[in-house]
Amino acid sequence: MNDSSTAEFADMRFVVLSGPSGSGKTTIVQRLLECSPVKLVKSVSATTRPPRKTERDGEDYYFLSAADFAARRAAGDFLECAEVHATGNWYGTLKSEVERARRLGAWALLEIDVQGALAVMRTAPQALTIFLRASSEADYAARLRHRGTDSEEVIQRRLANARKELEYSDCYKFQVVNDDLDHAVEEIVNIISSREAEIHAR
Ligand code: 5GP
Repeated sequence: MNDSSTAEFADMRFVVLSGPSGSGKTTIVQRLLECSPVKLVKSVSATTRPPRKTERDGEDYYFLSAADFAARRAAGDFLECAEVHATGNWYGTLKSEVERARRLGAWALLEIDVQGALAVMRTAPQALTIFLRASSEADYAARLRHRGTDSEEVIQRRLANARKELEYSDCYKFQVVNDDLDHAVEEIVNIISSREAEIHAR
């Protein structure tokens, strides 16, 4: 993992959303982009994992070869990056993505894992960090299986990872339970709007 300097991103606004697979992050992100009263730009992450059937390069992720990813890492192109789920696959937030949000005068919305979020907390302590959780492990498992994209082995690994990620949930500024999609989205919108109002009141 490589961290960037705090000063470089001091004037930036970040919303960092983490939560175990199956906590409904991707759906929530879509909804936030549609309905947030505050301008949000989703940071498209880079990954070495192969695309799933419905995924498009440059929209869901930038799909990079391991060699390209390593080269960009060495060049310091990432705000944060990490090997996720012990699969050998790397994921990372490109600085160019958060710069894109800055240019547009928007908040950068990062959907990243706990390791990445901890790195962003160090680099950008002002980031609004939100841990999204389902109410029970049975709920997580059901969502992963319903998605139908992963083998049972991968699902088991994701569940084990979810247990580990939950241990870090207290490091986040906010925790939101995603039992009800509308309610979770509303809660997150309120968190962002309150912060935006505080910034404008200064
Ligand atoms: P998936 O392979 O299911 O798309 O994502 C697996 C995990 O990688 C998720 O927990 C997701 O939050 C995390 N992830 C996606 N993009 C990034 C990133 O840029 N950095 C980090 N650290 N994790 C990421």
